[in-house]
Amino acid sequence: MIPIAKPLIGDEEREAVDQVLASGQLAQGPQVEAFEGEFARLVDGRHCVAVNSGTTALHLGLLAAGIGPGDEVIVPSFTFAGTAHAVRLCGAEPVFVDIDPATFCIDAAAVDAAVGERTAAIMPVHLYGHPAAMEVIGTLADQAGLLVVEDACQAHGAALGGRPVGTFGAVAAFSFYPTKNMTTGEGGMIVTHDPEVARQARLLRNQGMERQYENEVVGFNARMTDVAAAIGRVQLGRLADWNATRQDHARQLIDSLPGVDTPETVADGVHVFHQFTVRVEQRDDVAARLKDRGIGTGVYYPIPVHRLPAFDLDLDLPETARACREVLSLPVHPGLLEGDIDRISTAVSEVVGA
Ligand SMILES: *Cc1c(COP(=O)(O)O)cnc(C)c1O
Repeated sequence: MIPIAKPLIGDEEREAVDQVLASGQLAQGPQVEAFEGEFARLVDGRHCVAVNSGTTALHLGLLAAGIGPGDEVIVPSFTFAGTAHAVRLCGAEPVFVDIDPATFCIDAAAVDAAVGERTAAIMPVHLYGHPAAMEVIGTLADQAGLLVVEDACQAHGAALGGRPVGTFGAVAAFSFYPTKNMTTGEGGMIVTHDPEVARQARLLRNQGMERQYENEVVGFNARMTDVAAAIGRVQLGRLADWNATRQDHARQLIDSLPGVDTPETVADGVHVFHQFTVRVEQRDDVAARLKDRGIGTGVYYPIPVHRLPAFDLDLDLPETARACREVLSLPVHPGLLEGDIDRISTAVSEVVGA
């Protein structure tokens, strides 16, 4: 079976972990600090605060930026639930809007229509590794005096107009879960240009402490371990090559599947293909038949977040509903073996009849 995702862990990661274990410094320490400094190069030198997950990065990033009870945050409903959970965990309310069917990312016109009295922030998601419409959203946010918080959990290395994702918003969050474009096991990164937001994020990460036992605010233990950071440093060094491989695999699939509704990239965008997502009819049937042919697939995501029990809203978001019915992700990760892309495209052509 060709898996839909496969974390690549090699000798360098093993050696890096061994060194940390031998050092005796297992919790947050010099590896975390070094990882933050190296990750900053991916986001034009912004402040980076490493935490224990992408969800935590979103949650603490929102809190550090001042989002709280009474605030509304505009989010797409077609995303991983963690996007909206982070808003709710701050005591704020997510306001769900529809997506642009061409990119699967939040629809800027829908964002505009959803801005109200209590709106405090807009939270675009760079879904599947495709950059959201940050220029339009940035203009909108400026006019309305709103924060932009980027959910970049799937988009390490993506860009728009030559500018990397993670540098458009007041705050951005990345995830290092094993299936993402790079991993630390579990982990996340808060990114911000604002030194005060960075300081707040560091306080919230570490029980409200900058100096030991002089706790300034009520905080979490959301620290990343040095073991995780050591893995992340090696992975970060491989990210550019891995993203190039994903893009190459995506290009081959697009070229070999002319009759299939394959993903588009906006003209000035860099798509890093966290997922390569096609639209098909009878999606579940197609997935089952591909599985029979040894091709693993994924459905991200089958249920609109606003329909999940935690939110349970009756909204009319037709493109979100259609995407939930039609999307099917095919493997393009850098762990694919010689010949896998041919096997995938042959199987998809047979099954979809294209
Ligand atoms: C993975 C992901 C998250 C959460 O990251 P974790 O590290 O799993 O907590 C949030 N938003 C999106 C869009 C994601 O893909």
